Amino acid sequence: MADDHGFSTRAIHAGQEPDPLTGAVVTPIYQVSTYKQDGIGGFRGGYEYSRSANPTRTALEECLAALESGGRGFAFASGLAGQDTVCRALLTPGDHVVVPSDAYGGTYRYFDKVAGRQGIEHSIATLADVDAVRAAIRPGRTRMVWVETPTNPLLGVADIAAIAEVAHAAGAVLVVDNTFATAYLQHPLALGADIVVHSTTKYSGGHSDVVGGAVITRRGVEVAGYEDAAERIAFHQNSIGGVAGPFDAWLTLRGLKTLAVRMERHCDNAEKVADFLTTHPAVSHVLYPGLPTHPNHDVAARQMKRFGGMVSFRLHKGEDAAVQTCAAVSLWTLGESLGGVESLIEHPARMTHASVTGTQLEVPGDLVRLSVGIEDADDLIADLREALDVHG
Ligand SMILES: *Cc1c(COP(=O)(O)O)cnc(C)c1O
Repeated sequence: MADDHGFSTRAIHAGQEPDPLTGAVVTPIYQVSTYKQDGIGGFRGGYEYSRSANPTRTALEECLAALESGGRGFAFASGLAGQDTVCRALLTPGDHVVVPSDAYGGTYRYFDKVAGRQGIEHSIATLADVDAVRAAIRPGRTRMVWVETPTNPLLGVADIAAIAEVAHAAGAVLVVDNTFATAYLQHPLALGADIVVHSTTKYSGGHSDVVGGAVITRRGVEVAGYEDAAERIAFHQNSIGGVAGPFDAWLTLRGLKTLAVRMERHCDNAEKVADFLTTHPAVSHVLYPGLPTHPNHDVAARQMKRFGGMVSFRLHKGEDAAVQTCAAVSLWTLGESLGGVESLIEHPARMTHASVTGTQLEVPGDLVRLSVGIEDADDLIADLREALDVHG
């Protein structure tokens, strides 16, 4: 699929030619583990065994690469499986990684409890501050800078282009977790990132019906000192085996086709919800990159098309008020995860980010996180208003 096609054209067609056998316009679910060989080693289309490659997954991987304008795409069973594969492919014991101070809780847990035991050290930096990233670099040892922007759950924004310069000057690879913004709102590779990762469980799948992950590498062989980053990731994807199954790949592909229209509506609704929250007396802070009061609003405006569907807020009356508000809504569903068509509410300190309690990544107890869905904004706001009026 040519690069000069627009985003939605690529989302609907890249990697998804009508099935050559039947003309089926949707890529079939190749629910199969192995493939007949035409004589030993005579693979049809390169397919040998479905851990190594499967046609439904190939379609998704090509689509993901096209949407991020990347070199190669890889689909995994979860976002964390993709993250683990990138780290094992590119890091060796003794290497050091800079990790965001408000990273997704599972990302931090991975670096702290899993990679740490394998000899990969990390430092935490507030990525909204480029100088803090520079200060966290250990010359000669830092091999990777991990960026999440906007962050989960505090909606911090990092300047990808500026951090790319810092990372590359140190000889480190820049990985950007683009889960919140999606390929529709933000293009980290064009801003200097080497690798993009996603939890496709969230907006890319978009319907809360599948768990998955994606890794996309920058074009060109040379990625921050690795001549063969994409090859290494391909090798590790097959060697570790945390791949997306055919049905999961198919659901994610189906989700991607409507990503652009869903994101526009998520953004419309999130803007309205954020505006409402700024006017409610129970609310002390509204965290949304689209608000001019956001500390890195200018950076977000420069590197994002719009500001996404996630909104967090804090309450004057503290943790009890936050917990009660989460319980009092009726249209918003109390739940973890995000990015689906239905609106979700949660209390990060006790739910998604409970694993970082007591660490430098601990989140405030008075914080509520919203994943604003694509229902009618008026209904969402009315429900929130009722809960906040009584419990906020
Ligand atoms: C959910 C999430 C992940 C982890 O993805 P899984 O699919 O749950 O493994 C990573 N990063 C961010 C920003 C997330 O929201």
